[in-house]
Amino acid sequence: MNLIIMGAPGAGKGTQSEMISAREKIPAISTGQILREAMKAGTELGAVAKSYVERGDLVPDEIVIGIVRDYLMSEECKNGFILDGFPRSTAQAEALEKMGVKIDAVLSIEVDDERIIRRMGGRRVCECGASYHTDYLPPKVDGICDKCGKSLYVRADDKPETVRNRLVNYHNQTEPVLNFYRERGLLVTVVGQEKVEDTTECVRKALASVGK
Ligand code: AMP
Repeated sequence: MNLIIMGAPGAGKGTQSEMISAREKIPAISTGQILREAMKAGTELGAVAKSYVERGDLVPDEIVIGIVRDYLMSEECKNGFILDGFPRSTAQAEALEKMGVKIDAVLSIEVDDERIIRRMGGRRVCECGASYHTDYLPPKVDGICDKCGKSLYVRADDKPETVRNRLVNYHNQTEPVLNFYRERGLLVTVVGQEKVEDTTECVRKALASVGK
């Protein structure tokens, strides 16, 4: 299965991608996570991405398109993949189409802005890529990642003023991508629920409804 997961920041894309990835045994490719790792490692890519990510702006299309192209052409993706956080602009969607990779479905998790802002305050992440929420998806031990045992932290771009900018960018630059896929008959939408397991169930049903 070749799947794209879309949604506003904090809608639950990463959490649902991880679950589908574990269930279907296909890799989840998160462009945000790749950029954060590059920033932490201090690579050239990280240095370029840093100012955009920290402001809550989109990293230039040609950079992320190059990253995704390399991943999709790799051996790891030959049995399928989940794209989490890409494409985020119509130019990225067009570039993906030109790569000639068949997309089976595009799942959009819809959560309104007010709930996004409320939720983001409780988000905690781990450098291994795992994501938690103090109320909706707490780790077993407070502040510690269930998967790798490292300390959890608040993402620098999760502060309220940056979240607001990320939402503006989502509405202006990313929402048009939903239409791009709607026109191609690939879009499936689910309403993000308060409880993670309820969203997971909605996602499962939505994918089953399109035979995935
Ligand atoms: P995410 O972890 O998906 O919320 O992404 C975190 C940040 O990484 C975003 O706010 C952007 O600055 C950057 N980013 C991630 N994916 C993309 C993309 N497809 N295009 C441009 N910027 C991206």
